[in-house]
Parts: sequence; C-alpha cells; structure tokens
Amino acid sequence: MALENTINSDIEEREVAGQLSLKAIFLDRDGVLTRERTDYVKTPEELEILPGIGPPLRTLRDRGFRLVIVTNQSVVGRGLTTDDEMGRIHEKLKSELKRMGCFVDGIYYCPHLPGEGCGCRKPEPGLILRAAEDLGIDISASWMIGDKEIDLEAAKRAGCRAIRVQTNVGDLQKAVSSIIQGRERLGVLR
Ligand SMILES: [Mg+2]
Ligand SMILES: [Zn+2]
Repeated sequence: MALENTINSDIEEREVAGQLSLKAIFLDRDGVLTRERTDYVKTPEELEILPGIGPPLRTLRDRGFRLVIVTNQSVVGRGLTTDDEMGRIHEKLKSELKRMGCFVDGIYYCPHLPGEGCGCRKPEPGLILRAAEDLGIDISASWMIGDKEIDLEAAKRAGCRAIRVQTNVGDLQKAVSSIIQGRERLGVLR
C-alpha cells in the first residue's frame, strides 16, 4: 500500500497496543503551533514556536488527550529541504514542546506536491488514519485543530471533529475550551 511508503512518521513512543482506545488531538503545525512562513520552514533555525501554546496543550494532555501533529510539507517535494532536515526540524519542535511540558506522541508529515495524488496530503485523511492506526487512537473520540479549510476537511474525511483557529495567533485556549465542552467550531475562533 502506497501509504506505507509515502508517509513519514516520527514517533517517539509507541503505546502498548490493545489496552484502551485513546483519544487524541491532531494538530496542524504551521500557523497553529509554529509561525507559518510564505517561503516555508526549511531549517530548524526557521522554526518559530508561537507564544502561548504551552498552557492549552498541557490542559489537553491533563485531560487525557494524546498530541499528534499532522502537517503538509510540500517543501520537501519542492526540493527546498530534505527529509533529513525535516527530521531535525521536528526534533527541535518536539524538544521545545517537551520543555513546555507538552509531550508529543507523533509527528506525521506529507512530503508530496499538490496534484501528485497521494493519500496523505490534507485534505486527504491519510495522515490522521495512519497515526490512529499506529498509536491505537479512537478517531471518533478525537479532534483536529487547524487553521485552514483543508484541515477541517481532512478531519471530516477521517471521522473526527475539528476546530479552526486563526493563522499565526497561537491562541489555542478557546479551541481547547470548546473541545473540553464538546463543542465543534468550524468557523474561525476569534
Ligand atoms: Mg496550517
Ligand atoms: Zn502525501
């Protein structure tokens, strides 16, 4: 199956399979956790964590959600960076989040170009489906937080609820409150 070869997974810790069905928050990366750049994040130095994301992410973990990042990175397919460099970018992201007390269970990215027809580039649901299978996540108990329509669409196709936040604002508090109260918000939270 093509997915096996095309999705890059970067899992720090695997759950022991089969015990519980786990709930997760699938997080978009650029514009939600880190600053979206018009010229893409190509090196660890260009990765900038948005301020204020630590406390809401910790709240989610305290409530028993796994944190899984699912991100389109056509910057790889465009040849502007490499899978190795993306690995270093994601090591930095994980270690900075860990320093804030936010352990990330996995980072999954699609390296393909738009129009390549892969099953993982959002709005396709492949990244979410793959992560759920790897980590034993119950998608129907899970949520996506993203800043673009494609994030909401990927969530819908995968079968989880979704909340949209403003790009590069880093205010996840309202989204987290909505999740805890079980309210889906498909309009942009302001
Ligand atoms: Mg985004
Ligand atoms: Zn892909």
